[in-house]
Amino acid sequence: LISEESRASATPMMEQYIEIKAANPDLLLFYRMGDFYELFFDDAVEAARALSITLTKRGQHLGRDIPMCGVPVHAADDYLQKLIGLGFRVAVCEQTEDPAEAKKRGSKSVVRRDVTRLVTAGTITEDKLLAPGESNYLMALSRVKGGEGENNYGLAWIDISTGVFRVSASSEGRLAADIMRVEPRELVVADTVFADEKLRPVFDLLGRAVSPQPAVLFDGATAQDRLGRFFGVATLDGFGRFSRPELSAAAAAVAYVEKTQINERPPIGIPEQDGASGAMFIDPATRSNLELVRTMAGGRDGSLLKAIDRTVTGGGARLLGERLMSPLTDVETIHARLDSVGFFLSDVARSDAVRDHLKQLPDMPRALSRLALDRGGPRDLGAIQRGLTVARAIADVLSGADQPGELSAALASLQALPHDLEQQLAATLDEELPLLKRDGGFVREGADNALDEARGLRDKSRRIIAGLQAQYAEETGVKALKIKHNNVLGYFIEVTAGNARALTEGDAAKAKFIHRQTMANAMRFTTAELADLESRIANAAGEALVIELTAFETLRRNVVAAAESLKQGAHALAIIDVSAALAVLAEAEAYCRPQVDGTTAFEIEGGRHPVVEQALRKQSAGPFVANDCTLSPVTGENGCLWLLTGPNMGGKSTFLRQNALIAILAQIGAYVPAVKAHIGIVDRLFSRVGASDDLARGRSTFMVEMVETAAILNQAGPRSLVILDEIGRGTATFDGLSIAWAAVEHLHDVNCCRGLFATHFHELTALSEKLSRLVNATMRVKEWKGDVVFLHEVGPGAADRSYGIQVARLAGLPAAVVKRAKNVLTRLEDADRKNPAASLIDDLPLFQSAMRAPEPAPKASEVEAMLADIRPDDMTPREALETLYALKRKM
Ligand code: ADP
Repeated sequence: LISEESRASATPMMEQYIEIKAANPDLLLFYRMGDFYELFFDDAVEAARALSITLTKRGQHLGRDIPMCGVPVHAADDYLQKLIGLGFRVAVCEQTEDPAEAKKRGSKSVVRRDVTRLVTAGTITEDKLLAPGESNYLMALSRVKGGEGENNYGLAWIDISTGVFRVSASSEGRLAADIMRVEPRELVVADTVFADEKLRPVFDLLGRAVSPQPAVLFDGATAQDRLGRFFGVATLDGFGRFSRPELSAAAAAVAYVEKTQINERPPIGIPEQDGASGAMFIDPATRSNLELVRTMAGGRDGSLLKAIDRTVTGGGARLLGERLMSPLTDVETIHARLDSVGFFLSDVARSDAVRDHLKQLPDMPRALSRLALDRGGPRDLGAIQRGLTVARAIADVLSGADQPGELSAALASLQALPHDLEQQLAATLDEELPLLKRDGGFVREGADNALDEARGLRDKSRRIIAGLQAQYAEETGVKALKIKHNNVLGYFIEVTAGNARALTEGDAAKAKFIHRQTMANAMRFTTAELADLESRIANAAGEALVIELTAFETLRRNVVAAAESLKQGAHALAIIDVSAALAVLAEAEAYCRPQVDGTTAFEIEGGRHPVVEQALRKQSAGPFVANDCTLSPVTGENGCLWLLTGPNMGGKSTFLRQNALIAILAQIGAYVPAVKAHIGIVDRLFSRVGASDDLARGRSTFMVEMVETAAILNQAGPRSLVILDEIGRGTATFDGLSIAWAAVEHLHDVNCCRGLFATHFHELTALSEKLSRLVNATMRVKEWKGDVVFLHEVGPGAADRSYGIQVARLAGLPAAVVKRAKNVLTRLEDADRKNPAASLIDDLPLFQSAMRAPEPAPKASEVEAMLADIRPDDMTPREALETLYALKRKM
């Protein structure tokens, strides 16, 4: 498309198009033509398919038809939303001059156009394109060769719709986990790093959200300067200390924002160091297995977040989601959060009052961001005003009490909000506000004398025009005479063709009515009087609009000037919303305050699964059976492992997950679904639950399972919590049993972590005789008339059988198959009387305690080295004797 030949043969407009397209090769180009954004060539083909809109043609280029499709400007947001959702990036190209100007330059000249904005998933601000309760992060990933220690990766993420900006260092091993903790909508990365095959699995996790960029964007040498320029400071020292990879990522993120927003500068806060070291490490597999913020199928329904979210504001929902993605490991911060929840639990009246106010809260940060980008309208100003009002009301409610935890800082932020701004907005803005400032009509009556006057003039003239119609009808005797208005002619008099003579004949009429237009069955006229009134209306309306737009600009500036305080206020409101919401949850669902400390305790009494419990209630499927879980150390520092057996459908997975979820809830500072809970900080959480095929990457279920298991065995430590469900199921029985066996021994002796291990291999229960911190537990069932009844109760001991055939019968396997299977099973069991696994206990000391520090491979001793060098056939008897003495001396 961009070849010389191609340009030379293009029409002037196509030439302009091609030039702009060449500068934005990997984006769809929305090319403004009048009331439409048009797409051409391959863009048109792709967009037409993605949007299900008609593909047409417009002219020819190099002898071929040019494919084209278009979307109307007024509906562009909807189409953009769809395209962004599908992973496209869009360059919006506007006309930057009045077409009349272009005409003046000559008949062939083309209206000037420029790309005014790049719309990408990570940089959107429109309410329509954003989900209210979700953050929308753009993330930059940098790598610095030979960087500081192992942390040679940097991550920086920005939500331009709220102004949040965070950075953290990362390492190759943590990269995937650190990225997925944030769940960016878009990840920018240098194309050189993107090409690194080693990182392919990380990028695969994000799919189309990854956007490779020229490596200069990440240039470390200029990063400081570029950040300084963006924030208008000479040195970054005031922001804290950042490592080189962090600086490079932060500068790249800012550069990408600038690149996409072209001339506007979003209100991004100064970069904050993200306390990643203070966050529980959860690898991406665990994160998705546990369905924290979305289910494996991708929906929000059925996720932990959905089950616990009682927030009433967009900001609160976003904060809760973020907290859930990054549970803490710092005991004090957790306590501060728990104290805030406790405050609202103990004061229901205050909690109710606060939540009533919060329900009125508009999305302040997003309105603020649009205003700062000069993309905002009157309703965004209105949102700031209402937000300030709500904040004041909430500060009033809270200020009477002693503020524990996070709430006192939050209250201080609310009290620091600029209330004169609120008054100013209230004094200027009307009650009902239009979406766009373009047509005015948002400044209230009485706010500005000149405006009231102009409006008065305009309305008076309009009334006079309305009166004129009756006057002209009488003068001409044409009862059907009408005064109408359209955008081309302005005000005009219209009569039917049959009545026109009354206005065109006779001197008086001729002198008064000036012909404007002849239609098929009507004629249109004007008069000097009408034209005069019209211009007065236009002048007055124009004057009113100028006044309104000036008022808008003043308010906008004042709001943007207060951005920092407004953002802090909004954050404070989000904290208050989350605390009150978790209190409401705790009250409604009977959750308890967990005891969280720096030990390795793990003691849950009457624990429940937060999601399953609610689901069972909704289906009226009977109560959820609460279960205890005790992994606290019996002696020493290290916690215990539970080996959980029991039939399919017995509730093993549910039990495993519920304990992991309880740990997460406790460490985000929420109350937990249990009667009592004592949790020593979990620094890393690993889970391998359920089988998820990853066929897209050519890995079988078993391969995925082994990869995840390997990650756990390599990384878990004494403060970790490990949840393993049916390791070794995906292969032949003896293979699987052997792998599971070795994995349990490794977890016990080497990882020394707390953990739950569910298995079908009953043989493993024998291990508890050898491993002192391994405890057998089982899901209890009852047999009743040959059927199995699941009690969902966890008790000590081991299951004696699998009940696989009974479960299969419940599932509707044909009776003949069930009968035959029973028969086969009896024969197999007879043959297997002598359990071969039992013998392993004595025979196979696989992981002795020495395993804790893996022994170095034995080096050959000096004697051995000498012996290896000896060639007896070449020696004289004397040499042989001397060598013998030498060897003896080495002993
Ligand atoms: P398993 O992993 O042993 O095959 P699951 O954990 O998948 O069993 O549980 C099977 C079903 O039993 C779940 O869908 C759930 O509805 C029900 N269930 C599990 N645990 C409980 C419980 N504690 N109380 C009530 N119902 C439960």
